[in-house]
Amino acid sequence: MFNPIVFDQKACNACNVCVDVCTMDILAPNPEKGKPPVVLYPDECEYDGSCWTHCPSRDKGAIDIVMPLSMRASILRGAKEGQK
Ligand code: SF4
Repeated sequence: MFNPIVFDQKACNACNVCVDVCTMDILAPNPEKGKPPVVLYPDECEYDGSCWTHCPSRDKGAIDIVMPLSMRASILRGAKEGQK
């Protein structure tokens, strides 16, 4: 299954801010204390970036959003059409 949110175990401090701000409630605190959150519903991610935006450790790479290939292709296609 495709995972839209990737955590870096070393950079993430398990503060769970991303869990709290997720507009789709797809994240949950990890039952193992001190570990990054768990992505419960990866198919329901809206890719709005709220988790990444609010993460206090994003500059250290604690969290990353990975868009599916189909979304990346349509963004690139839109950019090329905008250049015409
Ligand atoms: S990814 Fe960022 S906001 Fe989410 S638990 Fe880790 S440090 Fe906190």
